[in-house]
Amino acid sequence: MKIPLLPVLLALAVGALRAAAPVPPPPVPPAAAPAPDSAEDRRARELVARPAFQAAVRAYDRDFERFVRELILLTEIPAPPFGEKARGEAFARLLREAGLTDVTTDAEGNVIGRRPGRPGGSAPLLALAAHLDTVFPADTDVRVKRSGTRLIAPGVGDDTRGLALLLALVRALGAAGIETPGDLLIIGNVGEEGPGDLRGMRYLFQRGPWQGRIPRFISIDGSNNDLITNGALGSLRYRVTFKGPGGHSWGAFGQVNPAFALAGAISALGRVVVPRQPKVSYNVGLVSGGTSVNSIPFEVAMEVDLRSVSPEELRKVDARFKEIIEAAVAEENAARATTFGRITAEVKLIGDRPSGTTSPETPELRQVAATMRAFDKVAVWNISSTDSNLPISLGLPAFTISSQSARRGGRSHSLDEWTDVEQPTAVQDFSLALAIILGVAELP
Ligand SMILES: [Zn+2]
Repeated sequence: MKIPLLPVLLALAVGALRAAAPVPPPPVPPAAAPAPDSAEDRRARELVARPAFQAAVRAYDRDFERFVRELILLTEIPAPPFGEKARGEAFARLLREAGLTDVTTDAEGNVIGRRPGRPGGSAPLLALAAHLDTVFPADTDVRVKRSGTRLIAPGVGDDTRGLALLLALVRALGAAGIETPGDLLIIGNVGEEGPGDLRGMRYLFQRGPWQGRIPRFISIDGSNNDLITNGALGSLRYRVTFKGPGGHSWGAFGQVNPAFALAGAISALGRVVVPRQPKVSYNVGLVSGGTSVNSIPFEVAMEVDLRSVSPEELRKVDARFKEIIEAAVAEENAARATTFGRITAEVKLIGDRPSGTTSPETPELRQVAATMRAFDKVAVWNISSTDSNLPISLGLPAFTISSQSARRGGRSHSLDEWTDVEQPTAVQDFSLALAIILGVAELP
């Protein structure tokens, strides 16, 4: 996952405001702000004060070297999109070592460990997921370098740290004897990054044995735990291939040329006006084709990315984009001779991430906001593309949290990606994640 700059700046600004001189309490609290003494706030404070909760945090602290060891071990197993198998097997083995007996791998490659809830407990199941895949090709050097408390390696933060956190969580719950009222599903899933196109989540929620059986979902991903990603940034991605008869640049001059059709389409797309709120974006990210400077190409192609958090706006820009392609083809076929054949365009969908929002007013997110207040933090609602996109688009109260605090990791999707494992901060971050997870798991 990538963190958009704006929420980060907002979070910094909020932090700066809170650190400034004491602000007199407002005479009347704004109606929209939940009272700090809501039922959710009391529940959050009670949860973190509980001896078993404290014991789980202490267990993580004692177990910290193992957390770091497993983070390094998993990072050093390459896991490119569609090549997650070896890392998945290691994760399954570590889940068993952490104490789960019911660990399976589904047909898509998702590793799923079930931690049974309290006998007779009736709360709905909660699924927790981190993604196995990274953006890096199989031959990338993934050996972890250490610099002080920093671990540096491709994928170490996104999202291997999420996987290591899940393992540590299972052990800490076991050590503290915590039983949740409903089952927990601990998932290392495939296919979050680009070409994976959420295939792990699609299988989990729409085809596999757990289809229809996961009412609540939290993804652990990203590198700033001030942000709660409840907005699913949807995208549609296409490869558009324009084809024609080709020919000699001099001898066949006057015949249709797919490069002109492609250029017409790009130019028309660039003039489309889209709303800023809800934000819509479009991009032509890659253009290719042709064989030589003195040939009319018989094939040229482009890759296009359309995005919005609003399903409605995404549909609109998608429809406009398809009209543009058709018009550009027709225009070229009308502009030049078609003696040897006409221009055609093939529009192939290469990415489809659904959009939507989990309302901050759902019981789950009201509880999350209260839990953050108990840690003296303000939840910053965020929009991004994560594994939660899929369950959010199905109307489930799904969201994504981060395993670490802001500025404790960075450069994700780059070869010098890093994550910080300074122990006291990591223990605080674990404590917050544990409280958020248990707070939601205990909701009726
Ligand atoms: Zn990620």
